[in-house]
Amino acid sequence: MSNQYDAIIIGAGISGMYQLHKLREQGLSVKAFETGSGVGGAWYWNKYPGCRFDSESYTYGYSWSDEVLQEWDYKERFAAQPDTERYLNFVADKYDFRKDIQFNTRVTKATFDEKNSQWEVELDDGTTARAEILVSASGPLNAHTLPRIPGIDSFKGDWAHTARYPKEGFGGRGADFSGKRVGVIGTGATGVQVIQEVAKTADALTVFQLAPEWCAPLKNGPISPEEMKDIKANYKKIFAECNETFGAFHHAFDERSALEVSEEEREAFFEKKYNEPGFGIWLGNFHDIMTDSKANDLITDFIARKIRSRVDDPKTAENLIPKDHGFGTRRVPMETKYFECYNQDNVQLINLKETPIEEILPEGVKCSDAMYDLDIIIYATGFDAVTGSLKRIDITGKDGEKLTDKWANGPRTLLGMQTVGFPNLFTLVGPHNGATFCNIPRCIEQNVEWVSDTVAYMKKNNFHSIEPTVAAEDAWTIHVDETAEGTLFPTADSWFMGVNLNDPTKKRTFMLYAGGQQNYRAECDKVAENAYEGFVLK
Ligand code: NAP
Repeated sequence: MSNQYDAIIIGAGISGMYQLHKLREQGLSVKAFETGSGVGGAWYWNKYPGCRFDSESYTYGYSWSDEVLQEWDYKERFAAQPDTERYLNFVADKYDFRKDIQFNTRVTKATFDEKNSQWEVELDDGTTARAEILVSASGPLNAHTLPRIPGIDSFKGDWAHTARYPKEGFGGRGADFSGKRVGVIGTGATGVQVIQEVAKTADALTVFQLAPEWCAPLKNGPISPEEMKDIKANYKKIFAECNETFGAFHHAFDERSALEVSEEEREAFFEKKYNEPGFGIWLGNFHDIMTDSKANDLITDFIARKIRSRVDDPKTAENLIPKDHGFGTRRVPMETKYFECYNQDNVQLINLKETPIEEILPEGVKCSDAMYDLDIIIYATGFDAVTGSLKRIDITGKDGEKLTDKWANGPRTLLGMQTVGFPNLFTLVGPHNGATFCNIPRCIEQNVEWVSDTVAYMKKNNFHSIEPTVAAEDAWTIHVDETAEGTLFPTADSWFMGVNLNDPTKKRTFMLYAGGQQNYRAECDKVAENAYEGFVLK
């Protein structure tokens, strides 16, 4: 016997919770299925030591509830994971979301029943559920990937991927690693946060680095009660300012070119940005650092000099400086004394380009030149980004077509919201979607509101099916590539480009929308205003 709803949502993170709220407001019967035992999505799963925002906390919360805005106090400029998980639980309690969420339940399969224009989902408890509308809110960075190194399971110490790190830490010791020899594999935004935390207490920390990143200082600090009062009085203005910027962060590109100012002025500006909290050094920099390779060379050189000035040993410093891509062409990890960790006696850096890992043995990690005995291994090796969580569900659309087959050479979408052949399936923060390169809750709200308005439009006009036209999907997919070509993103291998070393089947293709969230929002609005031009409604 199937459970029938108007809409089913996959996932109860930031997007799934808000989608639930918006569709319930319309009087629809809605069910969300969530693999975890609690709400929060990324902030439920990523319990690794050091996990925190690099968006300013007060720009990250939901803007749709004045009550929540006024009742919730941020203590730090960049809140840590436990605070954010608490915040999302606070919202879930306040709006009684849990009654419509089935936890500890994975959606394993979703099949479109063409005759009835319904999606049937299969759950890992063996039951099924049906709804006309299916919304994936399964997150762009959820399907974590372990390295393809032989022997991972043979390790006799403690180990975890950061996205499945035990809440209380190994042996209930939280972030205390004293007496332990710890290895961290992976040095992206996650690895950097883990390393600087583990380095504080571990007897020995060995960092296994394949490729260094262009990290920049986070400059976290407390938010005083007075400051919080001021923030609460100004939320409207803050959110409006975010919505005017490229990535909806509280940082706007400077209109000047890095090439038009004097060297002195440029250096002073870079220095100022480097010492400011948050992404200003990246998304508040001269506008052309992301589009012009000569401008990019200047900031890249500046950051390289900073790394050399902060790391005592020149060889280690060179190992920490990326040589194959410019600053900001991959996601910039934000750090707090990260580079200084390598000046500590208890921390060593292994350059895997010189001495690759051969295998994991019961005692630790064996590289081509040496064996590293360890008590704990932490894998900060990233995700099958953007499409991974959809790929892990067996999704079948019209005429028996599998989503994985359709996207085998890269995603094809309209607005990153829908794909031809899969009617009534909406992909929040999906591929080609403006929310995927964004201060995510800001763009999640746009995504959810657009989907909710679309569903309301369908109900009002008695439509039971919505799907893009092939022409509109082709045009959007080309447009997405064109926006990427206008930036330096394609010059680097990264999850933005669909590159994941641990999934060789994944094609190198741009996964995000690089036209800026304001343009994305405008495109979505235009489509809706023109009676969903580019979509077929039946
Ligand atoms: P990531 O950026 O994909 O980094 C994965 C790291 O693991 C890279 O250094 C990668 O090296 C390395 N790696 C992968 N496979 C490996 C292998 N087989 N052997 C050795 N090393 C391997 O993943 P992430 O750090 O988890 O970050 C993903 C995204 O999550 C970020 O870009 C960000 O958007 C988000 N995030 C946000 C926050 C925040 O808000 N503060 C914090 C953490 C993460 P290569 O680069 O050479 O492949």
